[in-house]
This record gives sequence, structure tokens and C-alpha cells, in this order.
Amino acid sequence: MAPVDVLDDEDEPRIVDTHCHQPTEEFLNDAGGQMMEDAANKFGADMETDTYENLVEEYHEVGISTAVLLGWDAETNTGNPPVPNDYVAEIRDQYDDFFVGFASVDPLKDDCAQEAERAVKDLDLSGFKFQQIAQGFDPSDPEHDELWTTIEDLGVPVVFHGGNSTLGAGAPGGRGLKVKHGNPMLIDDVAAEHPDLQILIAHPAFPWEKEQLAICQQKGNVYMDLSGWMPRYIDDQVLHYAKTLLQDKVMFGTDYPMIDPKPWLEQFAELEFPEEVQRKILWENAEQFLDL
Ligand SMILES: [Zn+2]
Repeated sequence: MAPVDVLDDEDEPRIVDTHCHQPTEEFLNDAGGQMMEDAANKFGADMETDTYENLVEEYHEVGISTAVLLGWDAETNTGNPPVPNDYVAEIRDQYDDFFVGFASVDPLKDDCAQEAERAVKDLDLSGFKFQQIAQGFDPSDPEHDELWTTIEDLGVPVVFHGGNSTLGAGAPGGRGLKVKHGNPMLIDDVAAEHPDLQILIAHPAFPWEKEQLAICQQKGNVYMDLSGWMPRYIDDQVLHYAKTLLQDKVMFGTDYPMIDPKPWLEQFAELEFPEEVQRKILWENAEQFLDL
């Protein structure tokens, strides 16, 4: 079976991956550190670094035209260096017809709102990514409200992590990371108080998929993606909602390099969603959300 039946042979690649990390040491070794090694050991993932040339080639081969490249700054909570916003912008500039760059700011740093402004106004980055478990913060805490207001005023979308994390998995104390910060209910507060903030909850938010589906249904400004999980392991109710009620709100994402696009797209094709729904999930919803 071809990875994507909905693309004709003569079609230009059009699929959008909303969730892509650097396959380089900047993410896997420097920012990831010990907690990333735990994840790799636990799940047998291949943590070998790779080049952006190979990434783009691999993506183009399966019909992907665009990937959102995510920054990472969990320095205060983990002690690991960030994947700096300047680096994300530099890679985006090198592959500007392929990557959309999303910044990361550390909500526990005093200058996070200023850095958010700089990332959009000076670096021309297109949105933000937060990983509340690695960054060790509760997004619903009023102390972060200035940051959400700043991003809302900047008029760019934000990706929040959803659900448990594989980072630190199996280590004593999970390397001190707290799973509760991945509960999507904490994002519901942010969405309610910032109705102009466009929010994408990344991943089926195990073990809170039902909460996530409820929020995506109730909040016009909240979306979700299917990244981080191979389709075969995604909760049945999530797949049912993606096919029906939430077909305008669910997007494709990989969580590269932890998951490669080709096997993901092959498994997704096996689900045999209606073609119009596949098109929405694989690119139309993302094109709208990212204003491509
Ligand atoms: Zn990720």
C-alpha cells in the first residue's frame, strides 16, 4: 500500500507535519540529555543523529511539503541547554520552503515574555512550543498569564504538549519530571481566558484523551494532533472523533526523529478514513491553523 493514497502520483507533496524536532545533537543530546536517553532505552528508539538534508529528502519521498520545526527551552527545570530560537530561525532560513519555525521560551525565566516578542518580531518565527512536563510548569497558574497575553497579542499559534511524557521514563523519580503538568485540563483554563490564542494540543493526551476531546469540541480555539503515537496504538475514541466530530480540528504530526513519517503514514492509510477526512488531517487543517 502506498503511504498516502489520497495523493495522486502527479500531485505536488502537500502533507504538513505539525511536530518535528531536530535530528541533530542540539536536540537529542544537548537539550535532551539523560531524560532523552531514558526514553530511547525504554522504547528502543534509534537516537542516532541525522542531517537536515536527509530529513527533507525522507519527507519529500512520502509527500510531505512542510514541517513545523520546534524550539526547546527547559533549562530552568532540567539544567540542560536550550535548542535556541536563533538556531531554529537559522535552519528555517536554510530550508525556508520546507520548515516553519516555532520558538520556545522557558516560562520559568524572568525574560520569557521579552524573548517571545523577540522570537516573532526579530527572528520571524511563526509560533511557540511548550513542553510543560520538561519545563516543569502549570500553564493555568496565573503567574504565566503575562506570557499568554503576549503571545495572544503577537497573533501567532502555540503548541502545548498533551499527556504523559516518555522523557525520563523508567528512571528513579522519572528524573523529577511531573506527569500532572501534561494534563490538557490545565490548557483549558488558558484557552478560556485567551480566546484569540490559537492552541494546538500535541499528541493524543494519554491518559487524558477524553478530556482532550472534550476541550477540542468545546473550545473553538483548541486543536490537536496525532503526533508521538503510531496510529495502531492511538486510542479508538480519538480515532473515532478524528474521523467524525473533530475532523476539522485534528492534524498530522510525527514527533520526528522519534517517529518516522513513512511508517506512520502507512499505518494511517490502513485505517481507511474517507479521503476528504484524510486530506483535512494530513494538510488542510494545518494549512489553516498555520496560515500557510
Ligand atoms: Zn515532541
